[in-house]
Amino acid sequence: MHTADVVIVGGGIVGSSIAYHLTESGCSKILVIERESAQGKGSTGKSMGGVRAQFSTPVSIQMSLYSIPFYANFEEHLGYPCDYRPQGYLFCATTAQQMAYLRTNYAQQLKMGLKNVRLMQGDEIGSMFPQLRADDIVGGSFCSTDGFVDPYSAMTGFMTCAADRGATLWKNTVVTGFTRDANGIVSVETTRGPVAARKVVNCAGAWAAGVARLAGVDLPVEPLRRMLVPSEPFDEFPHTAPMIVDMSNGFHFRPEARGFLLAWNDPEETSSFKTDFDPAFVEKILTRAADRVPCFANLPVNPKRAWAGLYEMTPDHHPILGEAPGVRGFFLANGFSGHGVMHAPATGKILSDLILTGKTELIDASLLSLARFAEGRLIHETAVL
Ligand SMILES: Cc1cc2nc3c(=O)[nH]c(=O)nc-3n(C[C@H](O)[C@H](O)[C@H](O)COP(=O)(O)OP(=O)(O)OC[C@H]3O[C@@H](n4cnc5c(N)ncnc54)[C@H](O)[C@@H]3O)c2cc1C
Repeated sequence: MHTADVVIVGGGIVGSSIAYHLTESGCSKILVIERESAQGKGSTGKSMGGVRAQFSTPVSIQMSLYSIPFYANFEEHLGYPCDYRPQGYLFCATTAQQMAYLRTNYAQQLKMGLKNVRLMQGDEIGSMFPQLRADDIVGGSFCSTDGFVDPYSAMTGFMTCAADRGATLWKNTVVTGFTRDANGIVSVETTRGPVAARKVVNCAGAWAAGVARLAGVDLPVEPLRRMLVPSEPFDEFPHTAPMIVDMSNGFHFRPEARGFLLAWNDPEETSSFKTDFDPAFVEKILTRAADRVPCFANLPVNPKRAWAGLYEMTPDHHPILGEAPGVRGFFLANGFSGHGVMHAPATGKILSDLILTGKTELIDASLLSLARFAEGRLIHETAVL
C-alpha cells in the first residue's frame, strides 16, 4: 500500500500552497491527489486573480497581511513567478453610508498594521480617472499594495517547488472514501488504490462538502457560479489602473493583457455546480460597465472568450480551517467565498502549522474552525465581491 505523512485532496492553489508550506517546514512525504488530468481545472484557473487587504474583519485582514508580501517575494523565495502586480484596489462609494463603511474598515485595517491604504475624496477619484463617471462618487478607499497575481502561475509555482522538495502529485485520481479507526483517519481510498495516511487535508474547493461527507463531516460549503467577461484590446482607459469597484452595484474591473476583465456578481445567481457561461450576462454587465465608465460603451467583447467558475461559499464568507471536530487527522481548508487565491499563502502556513504542531501564530485559528457554526460564533465578512 502507498503511504504518506499527509494526503492533500485537491491540487488547486490551496492544496498546492499547503504542500509547499509543509515542505518548507521539513515535512516532505506528501501526496497531493487531483482528479483532473491537469491542475487548475477547478476554481483556480477561473479566478480573476485579485489580491487585497481591504477587508472588514481582523482575521481576513491578517490573512492578507501574510499573503500579499508573500506574493511580492514569491519569485525570490520559490524561484517561480506569480506575476504580482501591485496596481491597487480602488473602492468607489456612492452614498454616505458606503463611505462610513469604508471609513470603519479603514480604521480596522490601520489598527491591524496595513500600510499604503488611504481614504479618497470623490473629486480626487474623478481627477485620477477622468474616464469614470464620478458625479455620484462621494469618496473611496485605495490601497496601493493590493493588486493582482496570476493564479495559475502561483499554483504551479507552489506545487513545483513542493515537488522539488519531495512532494508527489497524482493526477487523474479521484478520492472516493476514507477509512477510520478509534484514533481517526487511517487511509484514503482512491481510484488508484488505498493510501495509508493519518493526516488528510480537504482542499476540494467548491466540491469540498462532498469530500467531507466521505469522512462523515457535514461542511457548510456551497458552490456559486461567477462569470467574467474579458474585453478585446482597448486603450481608452489606462492599463496601469487598479481594480476599480463600483459600490453602487458591485461592478468591478481591472486591466488584463491589452484589454480589461469585467466582473459583476449577479444577485439572481443561486447555489449550483453549473459552470456554463450565460450569454445574457454580457449585456447585463456591459450596461453596468458603460454606466460607470462611459467609454466602455465602445468596449469590444467576444462572448466566446467569457467564462464561468465556482465560488465556494460559507454562511459567514470566511474560510473553514483546521481539524474537523470528531475526526482526528481530517483537516479542512475550505469555503474561501471568492478569496481563495489571495488567501492561499496564509492558508498554507496556517494549515502547515496546525498539521505539524497543532497551533499557529498567524491567526486565532479557533475563529475559523468548523465548530463556529454549531456554536453560533459566525464572523461576517461584508467586503465580499
Ligand atoms: C470567476 C471567479 C473569480 C474569482 N476571483 C478571485 C479573485 O479575484 N481573488 C481571489 O482570491 N479568489 C478569486 N476567486 C476564488 C478562487 O478562485 C478560489 O477561492 C480558489 O481558486 C480556491 O482554490 P482551491 O484550491 O480551494 O479550489 P480549486 O482550484 O477548485 O481546487 C480544488 C481541486 O479539487 C479537485 N477535487 C475535487 N474533488 C476531488 C476528489 N474527490 N478527488 C480528487 N480531487 C478532487 C478539483 O478537481 C479541483 O482541482 C474567483 C473564483 C471565480 C470562479
